[in-house]
Amino acid sequence: MKLLVTGGAGYIGAVVAQRLLADGHTVEILDNLTTGHANMDLPGAVWHRGEIADAGQVLDSSFDGVVHLAAKSLVGESVQHPERYWHGNIVASLQLIDAIRAAGVERLVFSSTAAVYGEPGVEKITEDIPTRPTNPYGASKLAIDHMLTAEAAAHGLAAVSLRYFNVAGASGALRERHDPETHLIPNLLKVARGEAAEAKIFGTDYPTRDGTAIRDYIHVVDLADAHVRALEAAEAGRHAIYNLGTGTGTSVREVIEAVREVTGEDVPAAEQPRRPGDPAVLVASGDLAAAELGWKPQRDIREMVADAWAALQ
Ligand code: UDP
Repeated sequence: MKLLVTGGAGYIGAVVAQRLLADGHTVEILDNLTTGHANMDLPGAVWHRGEIADAGQVLDSSFDGVVHLAAKSLVGESVQHPERYWHGNIVASLQLIDAIRAAGVERLVFSSTAAVYGEPGVEKITEDIPTRPTNPYGASKLAIDHMLTAEAAAHGLAAVSLRYFNVAGASGALRERHDPETHLIPNLLKVARGEAAEAKIFGTDYPTRDGTAIRDYIHVVDLADAHVRALEAAEAGRHAIYNLGTGTGTSVREVIEAVREVTGEDVPAAEQPRRPGDPAVLVASGDLAAAELGWKPQRDIREMVADAWAALQ
């Protein structure tokens, strides 16, 4: 297939593009490089530096599909400056959808998020539970999901939304490089490397097995595999939605333990109050993606930490 990957200079986008190239697809990348990195090592990809709003200048009928990962994705910023998320995510994605329709491109895979569910308080999150985002970031992704449902019904787009849980790990040298870095595993690895004195545990009074928050961590290579399957499975006129997680929860303390084992470093961690807005438990049911995409994540938390660690060395 000939594919446009928006956000291909980002962490997940680059790994998805790498996998698509390895599978023999033609890959063009559209990225404005505000948070992405121009030096992602993706031999064979054609680069377009620009806004997703201008996707119409790149897309034409020779494209078979679009994988849309470009987005603003900082929860805290979305609370402080929601307008950036309405413009950067909702309006820009609408312009992309307009360009897809105008060019007659048939399929779209969209990177959505577990943040659309808010704090559901269920043991495993299935796709049919109510969506109640608790911040503008999650709300903006949900709005785009709604647009895709309507677009598929009205104009026949083959659309798939993938709702990521906590993505981690690396693919070779392709790794997470956020600034500021808010995510747990990269911050723990900074401590292991001696770049920070101690890690922070946000909340030790959650109603969980060890008092710390539980998340469903998913290896970025497994995640990329789901995108390939979604592109192949997309059906005209249907908007399919899948949660992407392993179905297994890992607590903050368990992640720290895995980092200590993999790195052999002490990784001192200070107990801090909860970070506002962080739910106790978020774990996906991967049943629908397994049934409809034949997707089964293969890599556990240890492998995520080990691959992220290796990519840093
Ligand atoms: N967390 C933590 N210390 C950190 C960063 C995160 O204890 O330095 C916790 C955070 O409160 C959450 C979990 O680790 O419970 C995962 O946070 P992350 O920011 O990686 O992803 P999120 O679940 O917020 O998308």
